[in-house]
Amino acid sequence: MASSTSSGTYDIGIDLGTANTLVYARGKGVVLNEPSVVAVNAAGEVIAVGADAKRTIGRTPSGITAMRPLREGVIADFDAAEQMLRALMKKALPGSRRLSRPRVVICVPSGITGVERRAVVESARGAGAREVHLIEEPMAAAIGAGLPVDEPVGCMVVDIGGGTTEVAVVSMGGIVTAQSLRVAGDALDAAITTYIKKEHSLAIGERTAEEIKIAIGSAAWTPLDTDEEGVPTRRTSFTVRGRDHISGLPRIQEITEEEIRDALTEPVDAIVRAVHRTLDACPPELSGDIIERGIALTGGGALLRGLAERLGEETGVPVVVADQPLDCVVNGTAKCVDEFASLHGLLTGAKQQPRKAVRL
Ligand code: ADP
Ligand code: MG
Repeated sequence: MASSTSSGTYDIGIDLGTANTLVYARGKGVVLNEPSVVAVNAAGEVIAVGADAKRTIGRTPSGITAMRPLREGVIADFDAAEQMLRALMKKALPGSRRLSRPRVVICVPSGITGVERRAVVESARGAGAREVHLIEEPMAAAIGAGLPVDEPVGCMVVDIGGGTTEVAVVSMGGIVTAQSLRVAGDALDAAITTYIKKEHSLAIGERTAEEIKIAIGSAAWTPLDTDEEGVPTRRTSFTVRGRDHISGLPRIQEITEEEIRDALTEPVDAIVRAVHRTLDACPPELSGDIIERGIALTGGGALLRGLAERLGEETGVPVVVADQPLDCVVNGTAKCVDEFASLHGLLTGAKQQPRKAVRL
């Protein structure tokens, strides 16, 4: 209780995302923004984390594996997740700061299990945290998007990350109804890989698939960015380098925007359906609020061109991409760090975890 007056300490907030981990330090802002990737050697030791590790994906020599411990919103590899969190916390906290044992607020995907929650809390403690509190991703996203989460009005947020899409209705400081869908940025990349394999017999790596998505991906029905005559005003094709499935040799292939729209149909439809289901499950009073205030899109997936418009057309509710969608979760988490005394009610499982049981 006495610890809620720690204005002088270097408390931190962590957005532990499936694709990117961001760390906020009180009084400093976001001090770290790295892909959630670790590279592990044959002995299981972590040899790189973050951007250094991501660069090695698909290029590692034998014996070294680059992996994303939080793929799909669940902790796929406990050990690696723990080591990543420790390494990133160490990087974000200079030695002297670590000694002050900060209070840490960590945003976790809402689909993680109780065991995984405890693993996150233990890792953060191991890395020097004095107190660890967790916040659910849709809540942090809603706060970061500037929605009035503790007022008696319904707000809807759709956070599209790498592994999961979280759709939630928030009101009076709580999550009223939510869906966590394992279809998000990675699924879009995978759909592109599958399409190019099927239609062009070309094998591409996951980083290439992501590059294609960011360069020419779209969730719209028709071509975007055309002038009055329908002539494209921006890039509409992408030169893909991959390996031919049949000959095994490297090959170059031109891919069009239209093909990628086609490839993305299934995962985009799944996201639209999840939003529909959440609206369906919403109490009528709150539905009224949402129609009036619209839906906020956050997470990196919110940047997929045409997605906000598409969701708006299919639901009849205005959809707005939040400012800096990739930073909403860390900003929401940061707010909980800065205003801990008034906002800690929004945190889940906030209680301090008991120290390891004393063996008798
Ligand atoms: P997480 O919270 O799971 O770590 P993020 O919110 O950081 O995820 O978003 C990462 C996802 O956003 C990745 O799948 C990435 O490919 C995607 N992304 C980033 N920029 C864009 C863009 N301009 N267009 C489409 N997708 C994007
Ligand atoms: Mg996220």
